[in-house]
This record gives sequence, C-alpha cells and structure tokens, in this order.
Amino acid sequence: MVTPLIELGDVRKSYGGGGEEPPVDVLRGVSLSIQAGEFVAIVGASGSGKSTLMHILGCLDRPSSGRYRFAGKDVTSFNADELAWLRREAFGFVFQGYHLIATESARENVEVPAIYSGATPDARRARATELLSRLGLGERLDHRPNQLSGGQQQRVSIGRALMNGGHILLADEPTGALDSKSGAEVMALLGELSDAGHTIILITHDRQVAAKARRMIEIRDGQIVADSASDHASERPRPGVLDATALLASMSRGASHTASLLADVHEALRAAWRVVWNNRFRTLLTLLGIIIGVASVIVMLAIGRGAEREVIAKLASFGTNRMYVTPGGDNARGPGGTLDPADVERVAHVPNVAVAMPFLSGQVTLRSGNADIRTSLWSVSPDASRVLNWKPVRGVFFDANDERNLATVALIGKRVREKLFGESNPVGKHVLVNNVPFLVIGELEEKGATSGDADDDDVILVPYSTGSRRVLGTTHLSWISVLIDQLDLAAETAQQIGTMLERAHHVRDFQIYNRAASVKAQSETQDMLTLMLGLIAGISLLVGGIGVMNIMLMTVKERTREIGIRIATGARQRDIMRQFLTEATLISGIGGALGVLIGVLIGAVLIAASVPTIFSVRAILGAFACALVTGLIFGFMPARRAARLDPVIALSSE
Ligand code: ADP
Ligand code: MG
Repeated sequence: MVTPLIELGDVRKSYGGGGEEPPVDVLRGVSLSIQAGEFVAIVGASGSGKSTLMHILGCLDRPSSGRYRFAGKDVTSFNADELAWLRREAFGFVFQGYHLIATESARENVEVPAIYSGATPDARRARATELLSRLGLGERLDHRPNQLSGGQQQRVSIGRALMNGGHILLADEPTGALDSKSGAEVMALLGELSDAGHTIILITHDRQVAAKARRMIEIRDGQIVADSASDHASERPRPGVLDATALLASMSRGASHTASLLADVHEALRAAWRVVWNNRFRTLLTLLGIIIGVASVIVMLAIGRGAEREVIAKLASFGTNRMYVTPGGDNARGPGGTLDPADVERVAHVPNVAVAMPFLSGQVTLRSGNADIRTSLWSVSPDASRVLNWKPVRGVFFDANDERNLATVALIGKRVREKLFGESNPVGKHVLVNNVPFLVIGELEEKGATSGDADDDDVILVPYSTGSRRVLGTTHLSWISVLIDQLDLAAETAQQIGTMLERAHHVRDFQIYNRAASVKAQSETQDMLTLMLGLIAGISLLVGGIGVMNIMLMTVKERTREIGIRIATGARQRDIMRQFLTEATLISGIGGALGVLIGVLIGAVLIAASVPTIFSVRAILGAFACALVTGLIFGFMPARRAARLDPVIALSSE
C-alpha cells in the first residue's frame, strides 16, 4: 500500500452555533484519499462546501472534527508555524479572483512565497523570472496586476503557486472569472503541470471543466456523493512523481534554509518603504504629531540649555553666593541709617558668612603727568579680589598690611590705565588721587561689562582704610558685600544678618539684598520652564504615537486581503508581525528624522537671531529614539491584529 499524500477521515466543519442560532454544518463527514501525482476535480453546486474543503486541505482552516493526514502525518495536531510550513513548502493556491498584491509587480508577486521560505533575493528573482517566462509572461515581469488581463493575472498566480515547488496545487474555480479562451489556456496549463508530476486539486462547479481532470469527486451539501475512480487509490505512482514520503523528506530539507534576520529585516524594510511611499501624503499628515514632538524636544532643550548657560554666566559674573547690606530702610521716609566698619565685623561673625567686605565709593580726580581725569574710587578690603571676582592682570592686590598701615597703594582699571598711561605698564608709577600720591601696584583685568553710564573698568581700587580716611574723609559705607559659604542657607543667613544688625542699631535702618537667592530662584524658574516644555513635547509625541497606531490600524484594515495572501503563501504569524512592526518603525523613524531636521533648522534660525541656543547630540539622538520607540509601542497592537487574522476571512475580504 502506498501512503496517500492526503487522507481525510470523517471531516466535519460547522460555523456558528455559539448563540441562539443552530450551527451551520458545511462539511458533514468527508472522507477522501488522494495519492501523489493525481489530478482531482472536486465538483459541486455553489454553496456545497467546496471552498471550505479546499481551505481545510490547504491548511488555511482547521476542521471542526475529523482526521487529516498529510503523507501519513497527523496535521490536526500541527501548531500555527508547522501549518505555515506546510502551506509554504507543499501547497500552492490558485484563487478565482487571482489574489495578487496590487502594489507589487508580477515578478514580485511570484517571489512572495520564496520570501517566507528564506531564499536569497537573487535566487528568488531568477526563479520568478524563469517561471513567468515559462508561463508566457516574460515580457510582463514589471507590470502591476491592474496592467494585466485576467488570464495573465491567473498565470501570475499559478507562477506564485509554483514558486516554492507547488507540489500540490489547490485551484479554487481558477477559470471562474475568465473568458472561455483564457479559461481553456489555464486548464491546459494545469494539465501540463499534472503531466510534469504536480498533484492538482481543482475545485469547480463546472462539469465540463472538471472533465479535464483524471478523477472527479462530487460533493453535495457537504458530503461526497460520487468519486469517479475509487480504484485510483491503488494506482501505481507514475514515473517522475515524488511519492508522499519522499515529498515529505524533501520538504523537511527545504524547511531548514531560513534566511538570516538581516535579510528578513531588509525585505520587511523594502516592502514597508513601498507602502509608505504609496501613501506618502497620508503618512506625512499623520506624522505631524511625531515631527512636532521631536522638533520641539530638540529646540526646547537647546533653548533651555542656552538659557541655563546664560544664567550660569550671570551667576559667575555676580559671584555665585553674595549678598549686599545697604544703608537706609526700605521706606524713603524711614530711618536713613548708616553702616560703618563695626557693622562689617558684626556681619562677619554671622554663621555661614565667609567674607564681609566694606565698600565705599566716591568720585575722585586722578592726575599723572599732565593727564587729569575724574573717575570712581572704590575703597575695599583685600578680600575684594575674591568678593568682586576680579584679579590683577599686572602687579598684585593689596593685602591686610596695606589695610592696617593706611598704605597709599592702588589698583587701576583698564580704562584708567589707558587714559593716564596709554599702553605702557602702570605698575610702579605714581598717581595723585585728590592730590594724595598713590603707588600703582596693579592693573585689573578687563571686566568689559558696563551698567548704565558707569564703566566697570573706569575705576581705581584702594585699601578701605586709606580711601575712607585719606581720600573720601568718611567711614560711612556705601554698602557691605557679603560672601556666604552654603548657597542653600542663603535665606537663613540673610535673616540672621538682619537680626544681628537690628539688635546693634535698635532699628531696621538697612536693607539686605539676597542676590544668591534671586539667582537661585531664577534658575529654578528655568528648570520649571524646561520641564513644562518637555511635557509639551512629550504630549505631542504621545499624539504622534496615536497617529502611528491609527495609520497602522488603517493599513491593516486596507490590506487584510494582502495579509491573507501572505499567510496562504506560507508567512508565519511572526513574519506578518515583523512586516507591520517594521512599517510602524519606519514611519515613526521618518517622522523622527523629519523632526530632527526641522528642530535643527529652527535652532539654526534662532542662533542666527542670536537667541542663546545650545544643541546636544544626546538630546537629538534621544528624541529620535523616543520617536522610534513610540512607533514600536503604538505599532504593536495593529501588527498583532494583522498577525492574528484568520486567513480564510482575510482572503474573502474586499
Ligand atoms: P462553495 O465554495 O462550494 O460555493 P463554500 O465552501 O464557500 O461553498 O460555502 C459553503 C457554505 O458554508 C455556504 O452555505 C456558506 O454560506 C457557508 N459558509 C462559508 N463560510 C462561512 C463562514 N465563515 N461562516 C458561516 N458560514 C459560512
Ligand atoms: Mg467557493
């Protein structure tokens, strides 16, 4: 006894029956056995269950009950991947409506089954070209289905069925949509393929068509009512026909050559790009969310960083941790108090105060040689270099000894040096300050900053003791500059200074400016702003993600039949999943790339408009990665939906 290629035993299939309605029994106990190399026609009226039977034979559908053995193997116990393998390696489907993928060329349609069997692109292409040439379509390789006649399309679909070998061709009304001439051609082709050793199962309602087969099985109301040649079961295999066991062995070999992941991804990307390009306008509109999201993340972070840099620069120019105590209450009619060196001592003893520096300024006349100018004189302690964050470029700063000894030494700003000494070195030279001779011991580095009319570089610095007693003739300070140790404690320290001075003065005749706190507040506001902007960007990414999901759900819906075709030609669930995930990722990747481009362009415009903007490569890559991940996450659900489609339902969808 030869093992039958296909053996059905008491196969039943019923639909529905879950709710109120009774189940519809479509197949009611079908038993049949088909040997390798047979050419069988299954005939029956419309609605008799032929297509249902074919779907079960081709492993597109499972029977409700009954046995199905393929080359002796029990198929009912196969899992989804094993069924996909059977479809891919054993069967080739030819449908009444051709079921070609409309966006792909004739050659690409023929190649589809080989994609899932893992053939290399070159091998695929060569075989598809050869098959189509043999089918008389050598001139039409690059035509789209809608550029081909019905007969030509059916030949393309036969080419596709033969792509992976097509040991068993399942043809469901292959001539149903064709004129009689094309129909005859297709039947002749099936006859040739049968002669060449293919097993052919032809389904038709037309007895004349069925008569072309060697064996005719008649089905009525889901039951076999006639089988023209029961004796075929004992027919000896014809030469050139693989018997069932040999076929199974060769299929197993075929199953082992699966393509590399890279090739799979490349293939998925190619297909995805085709789809995206075909729907480019729609895709672009849907991508606006992601584009805006990514662009705004990049621009906002760049502006945020620019602003932060500016705040830091401001902090550095202020000195990060300083306060001022000025004389006079906060009310113009309040007490007009004074501050003197004793107050400096008091402030210096407050905890967390690093330095308390007296500051007394006034306008003076400077004279050197025949140059004679008016400028600002600052009487400060030797801590001034640290407190003012100001170092000499030439010479040295005065020290505690100079302060104690009322030394007549001075440092001059750049502007004063230019006016009095031109480009020559002023150190060691003498200058008359309100007619008191001072020795210039240093020149200060250029500050560059001007506030109002005052030029910070148009100044002369002298020890506080000398300045107050010998030049300005007063000990009433302009203010006390305070440096603190810990910025966090700025508010408490300010309060303690206030309490200390108020106790000494018995009245609040001074004010404290807590610069440190205000700068800190400013940078906190900045952080808040950055956070808010980030939130906005995040929301638009979310909207973008929903857009991607929407477009993917739409795509899956529109291409349901294509998915059915792919499953029928042997795609596994994970192949379909990969295809749609790749598409979602590609779409969001394009969105991300456009977002980066637009973000960088906006940033460039801002830089040109001298808005402080600092790009960070990390932010750009991060935003792009976010877009990709968004696409993956939001594409997952539609992709899974596609992968889980029932192939029979998918194939019958419009
Ligand atoms: P044929 O191909 O012989 O015309 P089919 O196998 O397509 O017949 O269908 C046989 C019967 O099964 C028909 O009456 C049809 O309405 C019913 N049928 C097919 N598919 C389904 C389904 N998914 N749900 C319910 N009934 C179905
Ligand atoms: Mg049918």
